[in-house]
Amino acid sequence: MGEFDLIARYFTRPARRSPLGVGDDCALLAPAAGMQLAVSCDMLVEGRHFLSTVSPERLGHKALAVNLSDLAACGAKPLAFTLALALPAVQEDWLAGFARGLFALADRHDCELVGGDTTRGPLNICITVFGEVPAGAALLRSGARASDDVWVSGSLGDARLALEVFRGGLSLPADQFERARARMEQPEPRVALGQALRGIASAAADVSDGLTGDLGHILTASGVGATLDADRVTALMGVGAASAEPADGSGDPDASRPPGPSRDFRRACALSGGDDYELVFTAPPEARDAVIEAGRRASTEVTRIGRIDAESGLRVLDAEGSLLDQRFGSFDHFA
Ligand code: ADP
Ligand code: MG
Repeated sequence: MGEFDLIARYFTRPARRSPLGVGDDCALLAPAAGMQLAVSCDMLVEGRHFLSTVSPERLGHKALAVNLSDLAACGAKPLAFTLALALPAVQEDWLAGFARGLFALADRHDCELVGGDTTRGPLNICITVFGEVPAGAALLRSGARASDDVWVSGSLGDARLALEVFRGGLSLPADQFERARARMEQPEPRVALGQALRGIASAAADVSDGLTGDLGHILTASGVGATLDADRVTALMGVGAASAEPADGSGDPDASRPPGPSRDFRRACALSGGDDYELVFTAPPEARDAVIEAGRRASTEVTRIGRIDAESGLRVLDAEGSLLDQRFGSFDHFA
């Protein structure tokens, strides 16, 4: 199958909202009057952003989800996306699965594929997403102020737990592993919450590289610091909380299996694991009811996990109020 047959069969659908979709030299977008375009681009590389074990359907979902997550963090409504795809070979069942996962998520968010590029090469997926937001209303990283609350959506840390199981350093019961794996392979971008937080949140970012690191970007951009409650953050693990073992490691009688996650490890996953695709955001204490109402409208849980300080730096406290050492740096691809 040639390049153009492939594009026609798997990636061309009739344009709906956009004036011009796949097939010409450019696509055309028509943002509504008074709106700004929000644009973001994310690349997924095999071995670094996903494992070869992931199903093509989940990979199609994830490739778009990580991009929609950036729109969510800005409070933007998805409009359209482009897809640049490098493929080692044309495998039709792979392409069909990938397109199925991709379009299922795209349709849920009414986000149209309007163009792209297709080439032979090591598997690599690059999506650029376009959204719209009322002029001046985008959520930015730079708006956090001292005494604001720090909030996070959904759950944290389970994706990293699954990664550790794949790496062989950890074991989980099969049902828990499947749930953690779904969290890693099929993140749910918080698109509705991002839009619901416009005019309420003072700053926002999506959690892709780990909570402490991504909150760190807000702190730097806003010129402030923060204090986080480590136990509240760790309690946001879904699978991780269920798999809690005694701190002395006596929970697993079978010494030949890798151990379950220790408390410190669960803490590290939740605080800095990465691949969560939740939103971390700040809002003044007067807006607490409004934040909770926004979460309710978006059917997304929101949890207050700390506060913004005038003093720079990030402090993570345990239940006794003592400072945890800063082992919880974020996942840096080049470290
Ligand atoms: P050009 O060489 O003019 O950039 P191409 O020959 O690369 O165009 O692509 C032909 C058309 O197919 C263009 O409209 C392009 O946007 C679209 N296209 C190419 N690859 C993809 C893809 N993976 N998904 C969606 N559209 C694609
Ligand atoms: Mg081209």
